[in-house]
Amino acid sequence: MAIKTRSHGKEKIKSIFTVPDYYKDFVCKGGDCRDSCCVEWKVTIPMNQYFLLHGLNCKKSVKDKIDRTFRPFMNPTPERYAEIVHNHNGDCPLHKSNGYCLLHESCGEEALPWVCRYYPRGPRIDLAYEASCANSCEKTLELLFSNDDLIKFEKLDLVFLMDKPKDIIQEERKLLYEKVRNNIFAILLNRPFLLSKRIIHLGIYLKALEINPNIELSDIDFSFEEPKKDINESYQILWEIFDDLYGRYPRLTEQLEGAKSLYINKDVNSTYLLARESFELILPNHEILFEKLLINDIFFKQFPFQKNFSVWDQYIALCGTYLLLRYLAINLMFFKRTKDDFIDIISKSFTVITHSEFDKLISSLYKRKNINNINTLAKIIGI
Ligand code: SF4
Repeated sequence: MAIKTRSHGKEKIKSIFTVPDYYKDFVCKGGDCRDSCCVEWKVTIPMNQYFLLHGLNCKKSVKDKIDRTFRPFMNPTPERYAEIVHNHNGDCPLHKSNGYCLLHESCGEEALPWVCRYYPRGPRIDLAYEASCANSCEKTLELLFSNDDLIKFEKLDLVFLMDKPKDIIQEERKLLYEKVRNNIFAILLNRPFLLSKRIIHLGIYLKALEINPNIELSDIDFSFEEPKKDINESYQILWEIFDDLYGRYPRLTEQLEGAKSLYINKDVNSTYLLARESFELILPNHEILFEKLLINDIFFKQFPFQKNFSVWDQYIALCGTYLLLRYLAINLMFFKRTKDDFIDIISKSFTVITHSEFDKLISSLYKRKNINNINTLAKIIGI
């Protein structure tokens, strides 16, 4: 039973949430973080939080700094009203050298904008009471990858200050959400199959779901004709798709350029095989690592029930995300050696994937190249 009271224009929600097993162990690394979310990241806040910050009663020197940190947009909306103006080092001006936050320290946790207060946590109270941590935070990935066990979910009593969901969701839809998510996890955690095959099985399930939302897994024929893989052809397709990502997201562009540089004036097939062999030697459990980060991402974004985004388009985005991460990891790891290096590549990629319209963009780019059905996806997903 959820208990609700109001504070700072939001409801204080106290309830039992479903969380991944690592959630209770999350503690921000503060000054030890290699890619702090206070540095470089584009952080925006809504209008009500902007005015709450301006009305804060605190020391003048701190207040002046707070006022200069948050700048309203030229064309603000109630949801995206102001942004953090980083200093010359790309750091948030309120981020202290010891890793602590000046706003938090001076005015208490309740004064923090929602994004700073809860990041990387993503609480949800619409389809279900759920909370997890974003893959864009390196500590999340460290916890996820701390063992090779199947990811499990548990119940925790948690409190969040949140907006009420705008729409009332029918009980029937909530039950469907729970059932579909359980089936998705059963498919993706079916380790006797290669992860690439499990992802195709997921597509077959989602297609069957379009016809019968209550279909059981046991009623589905998961067989499909496995196409012959052609690395050269697949990489040409990926490069054409990635060309459209260049320049849009600096944190991704930098990684895409690094990965592609491996192939300049080289034979694609043999270079790929060399990079993959090296990657698999450094991370022999790479299938499990990718499985875990996909499951965590799916849970975090409520796949395939994201708003204003068809189930099939969400699936194409999931395949596109997996292919991008695998491509970056295999090729960028050729110059690296440790699991931390892998975590840095993945968390940096998720700063774009989780916190932008990346899903919709990547899905449309695949569709534009006609990579939009099980057969065409199966041809490239296993590389
Ligand atoms: S990215 Fe995660 S660990 Fe690093 S500073 Fe942000 S919340 Fe803390």
